[in-house]
Amino acid sequence: MGSCKEEQLSKCIWVQGPILVGAGPSGLAASACLSRQGVPCLVLEKADCIASLWQQRTYDRLKLHLPKQFCQLPFLGFPEDFPKYPTKDQFISYMESYASHFSIKPRFNQAVRAAEFDSGSGFWRVRTQDSEYISRWLIVATGENAEPAVPEILGLDRFNGPVVHTSGYKSGCEFKNQKVLVVGCGNSGMEVSLDLCRHNAVPYMVVRNTVHVLPREILGFSTFGIAMTLLKLLPLKLVDKILLIVASFTLGNTDQLGLRRPKTGPIELKNATGKTPVLDVGALSQIRSGKIKVMESVKEIMRNGARFMDGQEKEFDSIVLATGYKSNVPTWLKSCDFFTKDGMPRTPFPNGWKGENGLYTVGFTRRGLLGTASDAVKIAQDIADQWRIMKQGMQEFF
Ligand SMILES: Cc1cc2nc3c(=O)[nH]c(=O)nc-3n(C[C@H](O)[C@H](O)[C@H](O)COP(=O)(O)OP(=O)(O)OC[C@H]3O[C@@H](n4cnc5c(N)ncnc54)[C@H](O)[C@@H]3O)c2cc1C
Repeated sequence: MGSCKEEQLSKCIWVQGPILVGAGPSGLAASACLSRQGVPCLVLEKADCIASLWQQRTYDRLKLHLPKQFCQLPFLGFPEDFPKYPTKDQFISYMESYASHFSIKPRFNQAVRAAEFDSGSGFWRVRTQDSEYISRWLIVATGENAEPAVPEILGLDRFNGPVVHTSGYKSGCEFKNQKVLVVGCGNSGMEVSLDLCRHNAVPYMVVRNTVHVLPREILGFSTFGIAMTLLKLLPLKLVDKILLIVASFTLGNTDQLGLRRPKTGPIELKNATGKTPVLDVGALSQIRSGKIKVMESVKEIMRNGARFMDGQEKEFDSIVLATGYKSNVPTWLKSCDFFTKDGMPRTPFPNGWKGENGLYTVGFTRRGLLGTASDAVKIAQDIADQWRIMKQGMQEFF
């Protein structure tokens, strides 16, 4: 192995097992699975805590969108006394007990700036702001939601009031009695609008595209759970049809509220594009009662408000961008065509967890924590097989 390439790096560290980038749920799951297989790993995390998305970049009223049994990590479930939909704080406490149960101690404040496979030596070189780490394996666990995605909106920089992305939104109490433009109508846009209503603000929610809204539960059973069960028995298109019939019975015609449904069904669309259906937790009734106002696309933002595509002009005090997130992999993983330019694996689920030369990815499945659990188990098994062969070879050699 050569020495560290850059002189300014204070440390050059040889890592026995894999280097894992990211200490979110995916990084923790992969680390736990490796530890169960007896493989040590080094977890590098740019923030100063585990699950930083949940601890630092989510709103106060957030609860898991899916029931807890679909969000648990391998080998240690949620505490029994947690509700069906744990709160953000409960989820964080679960992550903390998970990390402590498997003795996972990430190296914090280590932002990976570059990682590259050195074909000469057959090792990965992973560089942070102050160190270079070297290992045979690299596991990418930086998440589908690493950075806020902010689309081009004409005139946004002109706006006089505060503009905040949902990753920086905490609670509607900061917006009391304000008129707030919420750009985006996914789960976050709907929940933030609902939160604003509950704090006596007046949200105007921009619905640019079509959107599927489904009830979170049907007759007390999780819609997601029902869909998962039906998918084992019926073709996807039929399951989508059933979901849409039930949705129209329970929620009525959402098109009439300005929420036009896509032509493709909710699960087919999710699998093809990653666009998650909105699971309604109360926003729809506020739309019906007029407390959340649905607006068409924004044409341009002005100093004190916005002009919409239909010609309307309105004044606003603040803007919340509920415009989603993106992966940051292309910014730091070099010379590697395993990922698309959007930072997602080219090979879709369930085969996107393994690349070449000891590269792995966990949590890029567009299937939330269920996908994470599936990836983590496979990665650990695969690396453990190589680890054992390597250890055996070394024993025979010495
Ligand atoms: C508001 C919201 C609600 C959600 N609700 C659910 C739900 O109910 N159920 C569900 O299954 N999914 C849900 N999700 C999806 C969610 O993304 C996953 O649940 C989960 O957080 C993904 O875990 P992850 O570890 O893959 O990514 P993240 O949680 O994003 O963790 C990635 C980690 O990598 C670190 N990192 C990033 N770049 C670098 C770098 N260059 N160097 C070092 N470290 C780096 C980050 O700081 C972060 O700690 C929700 C997402 C959001 C935004």
